[in-house]
Amino acid sequence: MKKCEVCSTELKNTFNAREMMLGTRKEFAYSQCTKCKTIQIIDVPEDIIAYYPDYYYSFKQEIPKLKNLPILKRLFKNFRMKKRYRRGGYEILRHLEPLHILPSQKILDIGCGKGKLICDMFNAGFTNIQGVDKFIDQEYDYGYNVKVIKSDLSELEKGSYDFLMMHHVFEHMAEPLQEFRKCHDLLKNNAYLMVRIPVIGKAWEIYQQDWVQLDAPRHFFIHSEESMKILADNAGFTITKIVYDSTSFQFWGSELYRRDIPLVKEETKEYVAAKDFFSDEEITSYEKSAADLNRENRGDQAIFYLQKKVK
Ligand SMILES: [Zn+2]
Repeated sequence: MKKCEVCSTELKNTFNAREMMLGTRKEFAYSQCTKCKTIQIIDVPEDIIAYYPDYYYSFKQEIPKLKNLPILKRLFKNFRMKKRYRRGGYEILRHLEPLHILPSQKILDIGCGKGKLICDMFNAGFTNIQGVDKFIDQEYDYGYNVKVIKSDLSELEKGSYDFLMMHHVFEHMAEPLQEFRKCHDLLKNNAYLMVRIPVIGKAWEIYQQDWVQLDAPRHFFIHSEESMKILADNAGFTITKIVYDSTSFQFWGSELYRRDIPLVKEETKEYVAAKDFFSDEEITSYEKSAADLNRENRGDQAIFYLQKKVK
């Protein structure tokens, strides 16, 4: 019997989830740990790469042009942008708000793809930012030391980073505890790792095997607050804050899966939009429900702030 990768409890009650983003409808066995509540894939498919085709959304990122500014202008811009992110500014600045990251601090985006976010952050005033992704075809150098490195975390400089972040990446990693330990090694003492992931919430209760965030077989783990706490403890972190940031997607995406409709259109390989299937009223009501669930800490995704403990 397979054991939970997080807390070693024996897994029982497997269920099948279908691959529905691309619409292959292939089934994959998953199980939810009865103790720590993590949902995990039973066997990582050997051909997992086949489930990340060229048209997978993160490969289609449009990279903005880098704008070099004199240092004072850059600092001023960073200050100003932090104030006004709510009006269409960069969402990332809102996520960083609890941490007080300085524009010159050394930042790494883990699993960054082609590196759109690090380019956006450079343009928002951050001057010491790089990305790492071991699954990209090639490295990218955008100038001003803004680079995407193709490497495993274990190969980077230990104890040198002020801030690490993973945006919807951790759930795709086959060895979560090992990855957290590598992050711990990379950070300076008391520095932060920010992890954005799908989590067990109300949408799982409602939709079960049709819940869009299962995203079989790409998501290997869907964590709970309990399982994140266990991993954080084991890797030497303290969770200092959790912010729920789920969206209307948990409803409309799951509704589509329930109706056997994939997220990618078969002919054009483009992603569908909510408005293709739902009225403005329905979408507004899904947005309101998501906001309500976030307030109750029951949304289906969250931001975890993990601080490196000093031994
Ligand atoms: Zn468990």
